[in-house]
Amino acid sequence: MDYIKKFIQLINRDINQENESKTFTVVLRSSYCMMLLYLFFYLNYCMIYQLHSSAMRSIPWVFLMCAGFFLTYRIRSRYSFIIYTVLLLAWAILSVYVYGWDCGTQHFMIPLLIMCFFSVKGSAPSKFAYMIMLIVLRLYLYTFCQTHTPLTPLTPDGSRSLQILNTTFLFTHMGIVCLIFSTAVQESERKLLQYNQKLQTLASTDPLTGLPNRRYMLDLMEKHIASNPSHNFCIALGDIDLFKNVNDTRGHNCGDEVLKSLGELFRESTKGKGYVCRWGGEEFFFFLPNMNLDMASVFMSDLNVAVSKRNMYDGMEKFHITMTFGLEENDFRSGITELIHKADDKLYYGKNHGRNQIVF
Ligand code: GH3
Ligand code: MG
Ligand code: MG
Repeated sequence: MDYIKKFIQLINRDINQENESKTFTVVLRSSYCMMLLYLFFYLNYCMIYQLHSSAMRSIPWVFLMCAGFFLTYRIRSRYSFIIYTVLLLAWAILSVYVYGWDCGTQHFMIPLLIMCFFSVKGSAPSKFAYMIMLIVLRLYLYTFCQTHTPLTPLTPDGSRSLQILNTTFLFTHMGIVCLIFSTAVQESERKLLQYNQKLQTLASTDPLTGLPNRRYMLDLMEKHIASNPSHNFCIALGDIDLFKNVNDTRGHNCGDEVLKSLGELFRESTKGKGYVCRWGGEEFFFFLPNMNLDMASVFMSDLNVAVSKRNMYDGMEKFHITMTFGLEENDFRSGITELIHKADDKLYYGKNHGRNQIVF
């Protein structure tokens, strides 16, 4: 288990190059490792079938693949991929030349094509050029095999075993390459989704009080009204009385604390009954679905009492504030903007007639 962990760490270790795709580097390193494993089994195959010269021919590839693997830590993945392509194609060509078309090594080109097309680097034309190069090479190999006899013709048994080895390598290689790429795509999609949700929350939240903001509230109301057009509701716009005095005499920070404290109070009191948002500055907006004017005025009166009783602190010193509210019931004729205007007019009226009250 420890060895596997260390191996995964080795494969994932980042190269110190900027603008490199980590996924592609991981794919490349895994491919080199798979090719080394393949060569190990191939050497065993050669021993079993007494193909000594074939075994000798594969030894340089073991070293070349090892060198290619370690080069992925030193050079750009683009160059590593070119080296891997050259080594794998040379191996495929050599095998087809030695054993003939039936050995199936020519199919090793398919994982190369997948690697090339899934790579985030490289332009579409260069990828197509790579594909055409593989097509031409494969057709050339096929034509070559039609006119030439293999160097070392295999026995039916040897041919079957080599087919098993090559097919297993080919599909494992393709499977692992696709798995790494698809996992990376899923992971980045998940991160994007999380990031979008975070952005959405940030865009709809007031940073000071943590309450929803005006944009969120308008959206919510629109959706609610669209899906419940026959339901009654009330809205209320509240404004802190003489808040400028708090800022002027106790400081802006103290004013901020008052806004936060009111935010907490409103969040708690509207739970399960309605919605609140920070409308802007020292104004708060309430959306009370399924409440008629009687119910809403009782609710808002209780809230107004709670506001005036809430202890605010300027250091150790305790003080209290009051608020004025304009309350409006849905008339099933006016739009949201019109209703808000009416609530605002009532709030203005309250400000001019003694403050600390609910006007409805
Ligand atoms: P009124 O009873 O007529 O509403 O008087 P008021 O002093 O509350 O009204 P005014 O509009 O004159 O002042 C509102 C003040 O609210 C002015 C502004 O500095 C303050 N304010 C708005 N947003 C914030 C904020 O985020 N933090 C703090 N500390 N103060 C704010
Ligand atoms: Mg105001
Ligand atoms: Mg005010």
